[in-house]
Amino acid sequence: MPSALALNPPWQHGETSRRSFWLAQAIATDPPAIAALQGHHRADVCIVGGGFTGLWTALELVSRAPGTSVRLLEADVCGAGASGANAGYLMNLWPKLQALQKIAPSEEAAAIAAASAAAVDEVLAFARAHEVECRPGPWLWAATNAAQAGAWEETAAAIRAAGHEVLRPVSAAEIKATTGAEIEFGGVVDDGCAALQPAALCRALAAAAIAAGVEICEHSPVTRIEAGARTTVHAAGGSVAAENVVLAINAWAAQLPGLGRKMVMVASDTAVTEPIPETLAEMGWQGATTISDSRRRLNYFRTTADGRLLFGKGGVEVGYGARGADRLWAEAPDMAGIGRALKHSFPHLAAPPVAHSWRAPVEYSVSSLPFCAQVQDLPSTWFVTGYSGDGVGPSKLMARILAAHLLGEPDEFERSALTRVPEGALPPEPLRWLGSRLVLPALTAAERREDEGARAPWAMRRLADLDPTDFVG
Ligand SMILES: Cc1cc2nc3c(=O)[nH]c(=O)nc-3n(C[C@H](O)[C@H](O)[C@H](O)COP(=O)(O)OP(=O)(O)OC[C@H]3O[C@@H](n4cnc5c(N)ncnc54)[C@H](O)[C@@H]3O)c2cc1C
Repeated sequence: MPSALALNPPWQHGETSRRSFWLAQAIATDPPAIAALQGHHRADVCIVGGGFTGLWTALELVSRAPGTSVRLLEADVCGAGASGANAGYLMNLWPKLQALQKIAPSEEAAAIAAASAAAVDEVLAFARAHEVECRPGPWLWAATNAAQAGAWEETAAAIRAAGHEVLRPVSAAEIKATTGAEIEFGGVVDDGCAALQPAALCRALAAAAIAAGVEICEHSPVTRIEAGARTTVHAAGGSVAAENVVLAINAWAAQLPGLGRKMVMVASDTAVTEPIPETLAEMGWQGATTISDSRRRLNYFRTTADGRLLFGKGGVEVGYGARGADRLWAEAPDMAGIGRALKHSFPHLAAPPVAHSWRAPVEYSVSSLPFCAQVQDLPSTWFVTGYSGDGVGPSKLMARILAAHLLGEPDEFERSALTRVPEGALPPEPLRWLGSRLVLPALTAAERREDEGARAPWAMRRLADLDPTDFVG
């Protein structure tokens, strides 16, 4: 039985050019000053990864069981991963109810979705208490062409059948009045959401964790984990011997044994404009509505508190195996693609000046849902991953489940479907990556035809149907 695990830490750690607008903004007002690991230490729990999952888990542990010694090691700075690079949509898992129902009985699926909505309220409360930019507002799930019309109907019906009313229909006129977007095929909104500054949230979580007694070490890439009477976590500069280890390494978890075919890395491109508050006011976009459309390669739009417009597109590139976690970080190379998406929904908006753009990988799991479990053959070492583009709120729920488990406390979801590696497997590499090279251009072409109001030709549609991320619910 192997008793050690080698880990490839993010290879670009410390390279500031790949940082998102959010992280650059958060660091400009609050420069990181957390030292790297030096020497050998002991802890009850050692957490690897300083994103939402690692930091919420650390805070849960010390607030539930004061006196628990927790040390968190981050390869770069807290927020350098997806937690500082996402679109900042704070949402619950109700829109993923059908995906939940595929892995759990109906009652459990609804209970998880309801708990994720409660997690959203907890994140909002933390953001308010720590003065993190976070504006409650509806999430609009829209149809930006005829092919997407009614894409939400089955989900809305499943939610109603579970006894909840979450998605409220909105007309094209209402969308236009509240955001200026010209989305003639309408949509539905979930009023229980928010738009936040994700890197600011991450940095505030790190500060709160330090204040609560958590030892955080930045610039401390972990390269090896060794089982023993205690588990030893080896990082540049030193090591930590711990009773339990949590790998909160998100996209980098694809390198763990047994997970390579459970996850695929898919890049999103995001751009943020210079402040344009007058333009947004003219358009009527004063609130914090966040917008996603229903195409496979999602278009998304939101605003910031200082009057910027954020726009982006998912599914722009598929990463090769576990390496996608590193190779997909860059300045967004395809500004024309996301510019087209913006023009399609905001045809009267003159191209706004872009301040910053970035490409980052989203880790999609075969279930399109997060999961945590013990690392294969490595006792006392746990991982959490698989958020599939919805981790800002759900990471709070996963942290709660994991902390309860580590402290031996009962939790409603300790044996839930979120604590099992999902069934099913993606095609092996290099097939998956090669397939994506064929399918992505077909998807792009099919999308363009649909945006023009035409139906994509049969061969193009069949090729697009081979999408290696099509399992994503
Ligand atoms: C472009 C994009 C847009 C998104 N938009 C949204 C959204 O709007 N709403 C939403 O809910 N979700 C969104 N997500 C998903 C969400 O950002 C993630 O699910 C969430 O941030 C995951 O948090 P995490 O802490 O698990 O991972 P991360 O934030 O990725 O943290 C993992 C950390 O582990 C560190 N690490 C990795 N390996 C090692 C090692 N060996 N040693 C030390 N440290 C290591 C990394 O440096 C990183 O900081 C988006 C994701 C992306 C990429």
